[in-house]
Amino acid sequence: MKHLRSSYRLVLITLVCTLYLVSCTKDAIETYTVESVDETPINEESQDKDFITKYFMGTEVKVKLEDDGTYSLAGSDTRLFENQLSDSPGAYEANPVPDDGITGLALVGGVRKWSNNTVVYVINGLNSQVRSELQKSFNEWSGKTNIRFKERTNESTYVTISSSGSNSNSGVATLGSNGSRSFIRLGTRATAVVIIHEIGHTLGYIHEQNRSHRDNYIIINFDNIQDDAKDQFFKSSSASLVTNPLDLNSTMMYGSYTFSKNGRPTITDLNGNTYPQSQARISSGDIAGTNAVYPGGGGDGGGDACSDSKQWSSSTQYKVGDRVIYQGRLYERDFSRWNFIKNCG
Ligand SMILES: [Zn+2]
Repeated sequence: MKHLRSSYRLVLITLVCTLYLVSCTKDAIETYTVESVDETPINEESQDKDFITKYFMGTEVKVKLEDDGTYSLAGSDTRLFENQLSDSPGAYEANPVPDDGITGLALVGGVRKWSNNTVVYVINGLNSQVRSELQKSFNEWSGKTNIRFKERTNESTYVTISSSGSNSNSGVATLGSNGSRSFIRLGTRATAVVIIHEIGHTLGYIHEQNRSHRDNYIIINFDNIQDDAKDQFFKSSSASLVTNPLDLNSTMMYGSYTFSKNGRPTITDLNGNTYPQSQARISSGDIAGTNAVYPGGGGDGGGDACSDSKQWSSSTQYKVGDRVIYQGRLYERDFSRWNFIKNCG
């Protein structure tokens, strides 16, 4: 078996709309150390049979149906529900009309934000050490961004944070807000490095190296990647880039050796250099991206949000967090739709 050493990095930065889910059973986030590389040959045929082709926000992706009914994105730690995927690229509307979200149109695929910048959670069965790491992770996000965490009372939308049962420092998470179905599952040795990353998925972020323009910043060494992990290094053409440029320090960024099959780097900068392992903190890009996606002021926008917002235009490509007026109503752009905020007098 693999001995993973921990460190993941995923950052939000790509915050993008492109969020994916990873499958959880794979310790996907961990970075392999050079000395602990798994030399076990991989049966590529059997791996490929597990994956099916779907479309996520208009981009073709490989997904694997997991035992719990969710789909792992290309075998990663990111999990998607069936209604976040579609069977054809045309089902996704990249620039929806604001009231599509209300009428139920244009909802195929995609990711949803949390309301009022608040992640509502339920903790179920974590050991005391992981709980402590979870609290550190909450504090990291809430101390540096507009995100808040609230233990559930009677809210209908929440994320359940529980143990995966795996004796590992790893995790998996669903992408964005999904009613009562969202989850984060953590190994019994999960540290804040991993948990901070998983929370990024919960907020709606996919992996940083999936950015469409990533080749301008990094080199992906496919020859060094484990065969069953290569799909995770896809480029998403539809993910919305909330920040620029690519951020090697993002908590959503894979490490230089993540999923290496031979001890050599899977990702380097353009000069061929590796970069430091992820730490238990979010980067400046993560902070900027999160505060763009989850603007200050929460959900109701305050007193003059209507007068501060422009009329919606079909010729504008909006980004998550943008606000517009449409037919006298204030809307805020979600990852893949518009959310109604309030009527403008
Ligand atoms: Zn991840």
